[in-house]
Amino acid sequence: RNPAASEGRRYRLGVMGGTFDPIHHGHLVAASEVGRKFELDEVVFVPTGEPWQKVDRKVSAAEDRYLMTVIATASNPRFTVSRVDVDRPGMTYTVDTLKDLRAERGSDIDMFFITGADALAQIVTWRGVDELFDLAHFVGCTRPGVELHSPAIEHLPEGRITLIEVPALSISSTDCRERVQAMDPIWYLVPDGIVQYIAKRGLYR
Ligand code: ATP
Ligand code: MG
Repeated sequence: RNPAASEGRRYRLGVMGGTFDPIHHGHLVAASEVGRKFELDEVVFVPTGEPWQKVDRKVSAAEDRYLMTVIATASNPRFTVSRVDVDRPGMTYTVDTLKDLRAERGSDIDMFFITGADALAQIVTWRGVDELFDLAHFVGCTRPGVELHSPAIEHLPEGRITLIEVPALSISSTDCRERVQAMDPIWYLVPDGIVQYIAKRGLYR
């Protein structure tokens, strides 16, 4: 079960946090690509909890977002889903996600936090930023339409972040939700099971 142990090396765990409302092929390609380039043993997808103070829009129920993430990742033997953020009350902070995963998986693993360039630019404003870089290496994925040269990124500690380009997938959850609302198709932007789950649960209407 743990190839790292028999090979006498540390287990390499990718961590992909997100709202996943809904999960789409951009997320999956990014995780797959980082998994390959960083030789990760596993990528764990971690849907965020339900924020009590809704910031600007209504986020779907955590259970729906969790199930969609499970459906979308089920066929990949290296992809898993964690409930740590869904089950923790209140806002999700990445530092808590990484600490919980570390507590669950033990200290002898290397963690790689996978994030889009847009989200990465906000890292310096996150709570517990110094601690974050001790917990994981950060991998920022560029995607079309998101500029990378942000003053925020230039001030991040050297060697703790790698920026990589993933195949250009101009897909966002926002666009998928708007399409469902407008009754436009989302086939091929998200896995088939997600199209069906959204219809079944009447999400984003
Ligand atoms: P929204 O439009 O609601 O903000 P989103 O598409 O950005 O949704 P999130 O759940 O917010 O999806 O994203 C989770 C993580 O995946 C973030 O780090 C985000 O930057 C990254 N990400 C989202 N879409 C892509 C994409 N097409 N390619 C690479 N990374 C992506
Ligand atoms: Mg986003």
